[in-house]
Amino acid sequence: MSTRHHLPLISAVFLLFLSLYLPPSLFASDDHESNPISRFRNYLRINTAHPTPNYAAAVNHLTAFAATIPTVQTQTLYFTTRDKPLLLITWPGSNPTLPAILLNSHLDSVPVEPSKWLHDPFAAHVSDDGKIYARGAQDDKCIGMQYLEAIKSLKVNLDYTPLRTVYISYVPDEEIGGFDGWGKFVESREFKELDIGFVLDEGQASITDEFRVFYADRSPWNLVIRANGIPGHGSKMYDNSAMENLMKSVEVMMKFRENQFDLVKAGRAMNSEVISVNPVFFKAGTPSPSGFLMNMQPSEVEAGFDVRLPPTADPDLMRRRIEEEWAPEWRNMTYEITEKGPLRDNMGRPLMTATNDSNPWWSIFKQAIAASGGKLAKPEILPSTTDARFMRQLGIPTLGFSPMKNTPILLHDHNEYLKDTVYFEGIKVYEHIIRSLSSFDGASIIETR
Ligand SMILES: [Zn+2]
Repeated sequence: MSTRHHLPLISAVFLLFLSLYLPPSLFASDDHESNPISRFRNYLRINTAHPTPNYAAAVNHLTAFAATIPTVQTQTLYFTTRDKPLLLITWPGSNPTLPAILLNSHLDSVPVEPSKWLHDPFAAHVSDDGKIYARGAQDDKCIGMQYLEAIKSLKVNLDYTPLRTVYISYVPDEEIGGFDGWGKFVESREFKELDIGFVLDEGQASITDEFRVFYADRSPWNLVIRANGIPGHGSKMYDNSAMENLMKSVEVMMKFRENQFDLVKAGRAMNSEVISVNPVFFKAGTPSPSGFLMNMQPSEVEAGFDVRLPPTADPDLMRRRIEEEWAPEWRNMTYEITEKGPLRDNMGRPLMTATNDSNPWWSIFKQAIAASGGKLAKPEILPSTTDARFMRQLGIPTLGFSPMKNTPILLHDHNEYLKDTVYFEGIKVYEHIIRSLSSFDGASIIETR
């Protein structure tokens, strides 16, 4: 009987020993909210993939954890419908007259094809070497939890109080354009009252030993060009057929594309720093029961292009180029541009955040990374588009950053994962960043607004 009583005690001591001396991944099967890995995994288990993201469960999870951090306040805001909440977390600063810091993360993720995954994408399975598999592990549930873990550590372990107020926004719908998420938030009275001076949003993983940071997005344009011409017999050679007119344009456009791509190949620019032009559809020909009529030159043809412009590009120049060279009226052509995002902020300046000493926030951010023992790669333009554009449009300096180095880029991919050691390191990096940004008194500079 006495031996039976001792067994649990012995196992408890043994488990304690194990937990102190073995890597945390071995304990990641823990389902309780007892450590950063189990909290992260429980967040990953909430399915917020489109088209039916469970936002309410995600907000509940984050709210419950935030409630364990002294002085932190939570507020759920609704700008459209009740099923699209925006969670706003406030860590009050001691000097509320200073512009605040905003950290952002989106609640949603892209859909999955479960059959293509090694593990259930919503089980947050941990492999023997500490890889946590889940949709959202990199994009971007990691940063959402790391922000809170870092704040908890600063408050509980160091009893640190920020000078500037720190906000975290958890927004819906980023993956479907962000219009009902951050898009609505930035237009709201609630947002204006926050008086935000600097924003950190998501970035991307880095396959090297250096962290990546993004200071701008490229802006996508959907371009459709159409050519008209006299129809004619397939045997006849004549000028100005619709097909000939379209082909002439395509030639000019492909030459432009080649010149832009040559800059990249020569190492003069990164992929995201040039204007990309890629043909995505051609619509031409006169249909017949077996395909297309071969002896008929059609009178109407069109082609679609995905065009992406970096903020350094001049949109007026681009529009003129399209009008005069790519789809000129004198060649019987028309065109349509659907601009999927702005290139200029509300003051007419290029939509980008300065990454030099003219931007004090940049200097503080850079120093904080160095203080955490990390290295920063050359700042980049993101090849695609994120919610960050909403902030930059208001002229608020915004950087895209997710602390994942030596990690394959798996956002939107099958088998998205993040290693536990990378996750832990990210918390440490955010402790340095949040502390540096929130203690910046701005005395040496004029607030850049
Ligand atoms: Zn994302």
